[in-house]
Amino acid sequence: MTTSKIPRIARVRAFCQQGATSNQGADCHDVDDEHWLNCGLAPIATPMSCYDQYKAARKSWGINALGTLAVEIEAEDGTVGVGVTIGGEPGCFIVEKHLSRFVEGQDPRNVELMWDQMFRATVNYGRKGLPIQALSAVDLALWDLLGKLRNEPVYSLLGGKTKDRLPVYCTTARPDLAQKLGFVGAKIPCCYGPSEGGEGLQKNIEYFRKWREQVGPDFPLSLDCYMSLSVPYVTSLARALEPYGLKWIEEYLPPDSYEGYAQVRSNLRGSTVMLTTGEHEYTRYGFQRLLESRCVDIIQPDITWMGGLTEARRVVAMASAYDTLVIPHGSSVFSYHLQYAFPNCPLAEFLNLSPKADSIVPYFGDLFPDEPLPKDGFIDLPDKPGFGVTLNKENLTRPYPRSDEESRRQALQNLKQPPLKKASFPF
Ligand SMILES: [Mg+2]
Repeated sequence: MTTSKIPRIARVRAFCQQGATSNQGADCHDVDDEHWLNCGLAPIATPMSCYDQYKAARKSWGINALGTLAVEIEAEDGTVGVGVTIGGEPGCFIVEKHLSRFVEGQDPRNVELMWDQMFRATVNYGRKGLPIQALSAVDLALWDLLGKLRNEPVYSLLGGKTKDRLPVYCTTARPDLAQKLGFVGAKIPCCYGPSEGGEGLQKNIEYFRKWREQVGPDFPLSLDCYMSLSVPYVTSLARALEPYGLKWIEEYLPPDSYEGYAQVRSNLRGSTVMLTTGEHEYTRYGFQRLLESRCVDIIQPDITWMGGLTEARRVVAMASAYDTLVIPHGSSVFSYHLQYAFPNCPLAEFLNLSPKADSIVPYFGDLFPDEPLPKDGFIDLPDKPGFGVTLNKENLTRPYPRSDEESRRQALQNLKQPPLKKASFPF
């Protein structure tokens, strides 16, 4: 008996979404001006809050400058896999002009090989940020394609389900409504940063206290600080909020402040407040630093940003060896499949993207009409191949189109490799 025949990859296409409003697509920051995530219900501290002109709204400093990047990978039999990330038009350039050459002509099962070639080839300008986000979208499209070709959900390709159902918490400006909607916990933004001084610190404490009162003592409530605080500030804030049952405090320092994260861990030793970060960390190299310093209790990789599923499963394995939980940031289905497949990913995040945080709407806007949504505190996945979602290309454009002939030429380069004839010691 021979194994099933898998078609090779014929072409790669990259799309972005132009001028979107109230339809954030794969860029969760690209929301309407009045949206709660743009400070429409309460202030949200950011790394730019120290500049007066950029305090009032997150979009004022271009948090949504890049927008959606969607990648399609088509096999020779016409089957198409889809991956998304933030990256917009510059991301399209990287995928079409650079990464596509390592994918077209390949056997779609060779995800490790393609990941390694894409990473090594971008290392002179990559390693973190946009190039790794672009790589992530390609990697996710490969897993989606592989699932569709094998007629299996991605979690099944990863080793199957480790849990029957996945509980979900809500990131929101209205934890009272998240509680009513059935979420198992909520996370609210931190309103003020160190530049607002002692008065801002008191207002932060009061804001959390008010919501704690509204949701009662037993509803897990966390605080997301979006890289906006300093070591002494977060130390004071966490200590002040501990009596109000702060579950975890998230991403309180810039991601490169590894020493700062270690210092906060040391300052808060013995506290019941859990420490978390990792939303803006990239690849196993970045997460290794967080894990080996044991500075946080939970890492929060965004699967659509940090290197895709191929890299995420390595990070999940590393985290399990450090007995550290993995609770990914956003990423919807691209996270959920990973979380079902591994035991140390016990809880999903759902970022409430309705403008007033009062209803459940898709994380990716109208990019995937069949995106599964949380219900009664769980996220259940349909038994569909790949990631189980269909890309709506209505508002997407392809800024750097390449001809089929160009894809064929690139594919030939990957097909032409002669087999090794002479064995040699490999290192
Ligand atoms: Mg966060």
